[in-house]
Amino acid sequence: MSDGQCLFCKIVDGTIPAEVVHETESLIAFRDIGPQAPTHVLVIPRKHVASLDDARPEDRELLGELMLAAGAVARAQGIAESGFRTVVNTGVDGGQTVHHLHVHVLGGRPMHWPPG
Ligand code: AMP
Ligand code: ZN
Repeated sequence: MSDGQCLFCKIVDGTIPAEVVHETESLIAFRDIGPQAPTHVLVIPRKHVASLDDARPEDRELLGELMLAAGAVARAQGIAESGFRTVVNTGVDGGQTVHHLHVHVLGGRPMHWPPG
């Protein structure tokens, strides 16, 4: 799906509302509509990158910013000290349902391993 067409591109451009908790020039973070933990935030690039499989070497800085933002969101949400889980689902077996790269930040309860 091209830039501007997907669900998360519509959140980026404000067509679809979201509860934004953090934003920078290159990314935004908002609460997941179906939270799987007391805190569940998605961090996404403003630029449409469909998945980790579509990320390229020129996205290196953006990928770094996503991970740094995940940590910043965890601290701001008060889950950094107790611990948190970051997840990037990719493709069918990875369980990806929205094809715009996103980092899940989950916390506020103990997480289990291995994942389902
Ligand atoms: P994934 O399955 O990794 O692709 O994750 C997609 C996530 O997007 C799921 O956790 C959904 O609950 C979440 N989601 C879908 N639509 C929205 C929306 N409109 N606002 C916020 N989160 C959403
Ligand atoms: Zn998109």
